[in-house]
Amino acid sequence: MNELIEKILIEPKEIQERVKELGRKISEDYQGKEVLLVCILKGAFVFLADLIRSLDIPVRVDFIACSSYGSSTESSGVVRILKDLDYPVERKHILLIEDIVDTGLTLNYILSILKERRPLSLKVCALLDKPERRIVPVNVDYLGFKIPNEFVVGYGLDFNGHYRNLPFIAVLKKEVYSQK
Ligand code: 5GP
Repeated sequence: MNELIEKILIEPKEIQERVKELGRKISEDYQGKEVLLVCILKGAFVFLADLIRSLDIPVRVDFIACSSYGSSTESSGVVRILKDLDYPVERKHILLIEDIVDTGLTLNYILSILKERRPLSLKVCALLDKPERRIVPVNVDYLGFKIPNEFVVGYGLDFNGHYRNLPFIAVLKKEVYSQK
């Protein structure tokens, strides 16, 4: 698989250290409270798995899945819920866990849906941010890394369903992205 990688943007050690820092900050901010972590499937599942183990506050976990119509590397901006939450969010502190914020359309849509359900608080934790690509403004309360405008894979993020198992964040060679 390594022959398909153009460059590694974030090494496993850097990711682990940053996730621990985020965990410490979130634990401090939510001291004395219970949080419902809402993981946006599928890309955020690896991040969530590491993050919850660096939290020392009571947490519950739920999952939501969305699809955005478009090609495999370009979001179309039209979002549809494929799997809704199992539990109500009313009167709970909600922390959304996202892999990457690109145009902001997905997060903006999920935030608007969850706000209507009247949580006690609603915040966002994202591993990666590509600010150059933003179309709608979204506030990211806890951010792992800002990255340049490149399509990345690894640590949960895929291209056509593959590469989620890479322990680092990487850019693939151009010929991989041009294959179908
Ligand atoms: P947005 O709605 O902010 O444009 O896109 C968010 C979603 O698009 C992310 O949750 C992710 O699934 C996908 N996405 C955006 N940029 C990338 C990228 O660089 N790599 C991968 N694998 N997915 C991305």
